[in-house]
Amino acid sequence: MPEPLIDLRSDTVTRPTPAMRKAMAEAEVGDDVLGDDPTVIRLQERIAEIMGKPAACFVPSGTMANQTAIRAHTEPGDEVICHVDSHIINYETGAPAALSGVMIRTMTGDRGLFDADQIDAMVRPDSAHFPHSKLVIVENTQNRGGGAVWPLDQILRVAGRSRQHNLKLHLDGARLWNACAKTGHKPADYARHFDTISCCFSKGLGTPAGSAVSGDAAIIARVHRFRKMFGGAMRQAGILAAAALYALDHHRDRLVEDHANAARLADGIADLPGVTIPMPVETNMVFIDLDRRHGTAAEVCARLRGLGVLALPTAPQRIRFVVHLDVSRAMIERAIEAIGRALGAPVTV
Ligand SMILES: *Cc1c(COP(=O)(O)O)cnc(C)c1O
Repeated sequence: MPEPLIDLRSDTVTRPTPAMRKAMAEAEVGDDVLGDDPTVIRLQERIAEIMGKPAACFVPSGTMANQTAIRAHTEPGDEVICHVDSHIINYETGAPAALSGVMIRTMTGDRGLFDADQIDAMVRPDSAHFPHSKLVIVENTQNRGGGAVWPLDQILRVAGRSRQHNLKLHLDGARLWNACAKTGHKPADYARHFDTISCCFSKGLGTPAGSAVSGDAAIIARVHRFRKMFGGAMRQAGILAAAALYALDHHRDRLVEDHANAARLADGIADLPGVTIPMPVETNMVFIDLDRRHGTAAEVCARLRGLGVLALPTAPQRIRFVVHLDVSRAMIERAIEAIGRALGAPVTV
């Protein structure tokens, strides 16, 4: 029998475990649009507590978490300041423009990070000619930055400078759990520097769907309103909330295993000819850059598929591998072998 595929395309490919499915099956539910799903209410209270904020709102996806937060903080014509490699501008279908009518002003910086002085350069003077600078967005961990973790003191500097300019701050914390597993900081240690925080249950934590936005009561009331407007209010969503509550209790501590597996994967392929690892492997992602003699990233991914490993090309010569709940150490060893076979010998075309 052929070995099952090793799916390293994303940490979203996980399937709910039998224990998670049991928690979902047993969830107490109600109509959350009418505000009476007890399990959704419990999850929102739990997230608010974890983030150290007064309120939270459960939403169907990470995109909706970010976009309801952007809409809640801004008016059309306002400007949002973020890194050029942010998820919100690369992978959310232009939603800030389409749903909030905002302009985006981008910064550059190593591994998707930036620092306080860059904020100064981005803020518009108060003038009838300029858009209002309104919101700064930080992504932690930073996806296109290789899963980079923001140092807490850098967040402190960025937040402090942003406040001096009267800017609001949003944290795209789709993988905040990974940042916490890496550093040992609590989610609230990061969250206290932000007005809103999104977090995700379907990436590292392995639920079928769901994210949440947390913040103070007034901003979360606005998020709740825009969740409805954007079509994200769900009825008996307690089934999904139960998966998230289960994952918060059982799947957070194990993220360090994913990080160890990612480090092992990087170690196992770093010395292959024509392969460079462009960014340090800090959490659950490994990026490689390929010499052209191997062909394009898409061609190599096609070869890897034939060898039982799935990965995503994220640039013409760049491949991303993401480690998650459904990837064991044995699968990592098999993936290293397959990648070695795909890239070990110089390919003649
Ligand atoms: C995946 C991701 C999102 C969006 O999540 P979806 O649930 O896919 O909409 C937002 N931010 C970051 C950093 C992500 O990696």
